[in-house]
Amino acid sequence: MARIGFVGLGNMGAPMARNLVRAGHEVSVYDLSAGAMARAEGARPATSGAEAAGGAEFVLTMLPAGQHVREAWLGTGGLAAASAPETVLIDCSTIDVGTAREVAAAAGRPFLDAPVSGGVMGAEAATLTFMVGGPGDAFARAEPLLQAMGRTVVHCGEAGAGQAAKACNNMLLAISMIGTCEAFVLAEKLGLSHEALFEVASKSSGQCWSLTTYCPVPGPVPASPANRDYRPGFAAALMVKDVGLAQQAAAETGASTPMGARALELYREFVEQGGGGTDFSGIIRMLRGR
Ligand code: NAD
Repeated sequence: MARIGFVGLGNMGAPMARNLVRAGHEVSVYDLSAGAMARAEGARPATSGAEAAGGAEFVLTMLPAGQHVREAWLGTGGLAAASAPETVLIDCSTIDVGTAREVAAAAGRPFLDAPVSGGVMGAEAATLTFMVGGPGDAFARAEPLLQAMGRTVVHCGEAGAGQAAKACNNMLLAISMIGTCEAFVLAEKLGLSHEALFEVASKSSGQCWSLTTYCPVPGPVPASPANRDYRPGFAAALMVKDVGLAQQAAAETGASTPMGARALELYREFVEQGGGGTDFSGIIRMLRGR
């Protein structure tokens, strides 16, 4: 059993903190919002982030974006200074690689970036995938804790490597989903049935996760959001955030990612048309309507 400070009890953080409590850990929690504080049953409420971090062996954050993470760890009354020198600090938010590296370097404590995939359902069911960057010894200490909230935990490399893996994976997903949608839209124009395209492409060189697990048309994969009017799932607005982070990384490193750039434009357009709250596979409706 470990003493843990957990800051950021939103849609993801609250169920993650609950799973740490269920695993038998002593969890002290803090969120700026009183409503969010009420969601971490079984945890000890703290009156500030610094109070939650004081005396903890691990401190975790699950916050919206890079500026919140920088402020929470390094700002006045920040979590890094409030933690003991040997405490392992873990940020699970999805943020840009540059901020992740900057906070890790400035924290003065072992620091891991550990963004997740799997969404709110994965957070509730403790089936998240963690992509982790940072020192190997800190990863070894943190791994059992991450296993209590997830199913797959991968050490990707040094500081920022977790955020890098998340950005690359989600850019690939954004592109492959648009490609899958375009194939179905073209099939419709050609009079080819969804079932026939699925039957062929799922067993040949067009095969990919966007087709076989998350099919953007109803029918072939009964559990995909297309079968429930594109209720998320993974909301298009979150996809815009993640592909935006990938494009920021591409601009900073000089990587050529023209398909990623186009995918970001198309998802932005979809969100501007009111699709932000629907599943990202719902972009097929916009493509069909063009
Ligand atoms: P959310 O907006 O529901 O929760 C964020 C919480 O952080 C809020 O309760 C807010 O009050 C709190 N907060 C902000 N600044 C704070 C501070 N300084 N101190 C204390 N609390 C603070 O967001 P979410 O959906 O839980 O997402 C959190 C992170 O996880 C984001 O980076 C997101 O990109 C990532 N993520 C989300 C999903 C998803 O499906 N929601 C999936 C994968 C990754």
